[in-house]
Amino acid sequence: MPSRVSDLITIDARWDRPLVERCFRLEEASVILCMPLSQHGCPDRLIWHYTRNGLYSVKSGYLVAQQMETNGELRRKSGGQSSTEDEKDSTWADLWRLEVPPKLCHFIWRGCRNILAVRNNLRRRGIRINIGCPLCNEEVETQVHLFFRCPFVRVFWFGSPLQLDVVTVEGGDFLECWKSLCNKFGDLQDAGHFIRWVSCGLWRIWKCRNSVVFKGILIPPCAALELLSQQVWEVVNSGGKTVQQPRAKQQPAREIQGFWLKPHFRTMKVNCDGAWCNQTSVGGCGWVVRDFVGIFQAGGGMGNLLCGSSLMAEAEAVRMAMLACVELGVEIVQVETDSKVLVDMIKGDLLTDAALEGILWDVKALRQQMRVVEFLFTPRACNRVAHQVASYVMHVEGSHIWVGFEPEWLFNTLAFDVNITIQL
Ligand SMILES: [Zn+2]
Repeated sequence: MPSRVSDLITIDARWDRPLVERCFRLEEASVILCMPLSQHGCPDRLIWHYTRNGLYSVKSGYLVAQQMETNGELRRKSGGQSSTEDEKDSTWADLWRLEVPPKLCHFIWRGCRNILAVRNNLRRRGIRINIGCPLCNEEVETQVHLFFRCPFVRVFWFGSPLQLDVVTVEGGDFLECWKSLCNKFGDLQDAGHFIRWVSCGLWRIWKCRNSVVFKGILIPPCAALELLSQQVWEVVNSGGKTVQQPRAKQQPAREIQGFWLKPHFRTMKVNCDGAWCNQTSVGGCGWVVRDFVGIFQAGGGMGNLLCGSSLMAEAEAVRMAMLACVELGVEIVQVETDSKVLVDMIKGDLLTDAALEGILWDVKALRQQMRVVEFLFTPRACNRVAHQVASYVMHVEGSHIWVGFEPEWLFNTLAFDVNITIQL
């Protein structure tokens, strides 16, 4: 067992993921892995993590004490749960070995922890909303109701190749139901295959539910089943990872959308953007360097980054873009992002979030390595190129870099930004 935080960090300034996952409960490990580390030696400091800037105030202390009193944590504190408690239960370890994309493992993990944003959970967190199930409007939307008891999902599960009668899935919470399903299919010859259907099924129900909540579109069970089959097929054929092609065809009308502005003479401009999914805490970053005529010089990005917030993904994008500029030998650069908050933090007009300190420290260190660096805010509509790269890497995952020639799917957006009407 490592005794210091530095023991959990590798020599190239990254979390030692396997070690972190071995030493902590999964919930703790996932929070730790979401903390960005400085690659340029940002000094440590003690912070009060209940405020965004890490500074203690009497007001925030009082609020925390009040909250702990209300939910009984003050009294429970002495008992404490140990990190080893879950280790006896193989359910948690098995979860991360499922042959499905990481976002699905994370989704099921959140379900087992009862932290999916179903209405009953939101209400528990003090958000005043209607708690009725959006699919049937009959019962309270708890996780168990949504995934196993709602009339909609009973049809869905029964119609799936599993032919599952969810009445037989016993359990008072999601975790128990999940275990019940694992027991049911776990002993079968092709257990992995069945569990994959179950995992994708749960995910599909969540997508259907979100479609009703956020778009007002109810997807009938038969259509949901078709999407389910398609997804399982994709997962099987990509060895557990889903790959989606970016949607490059959507060209917004010029007049409603803003314009990207070219940098000054002999200046490069790097546009940065972060993409982030709050359900999985997985993000991606994209950046694109163009010269003063608007010609593509280089671009790149990275998917499957664990981030605690969308702002963190934006900050990661800026750090990554600046590192790339230093490596490419760029001397005079405008760094453009569509996060006003981030630009204000970098410029010192806004107190830095404690969680971003490591990244912003590196941004300052990288800034020293170039001659002139200017940070600019731009509306999202003028940051389409970086946005497209970020979405791309988020879908295909991994690290990508293009130097000299842009990837084909980016051409139309680049051309649009410089007002060229050629279309690929
Ligand atoms: Zn329902």
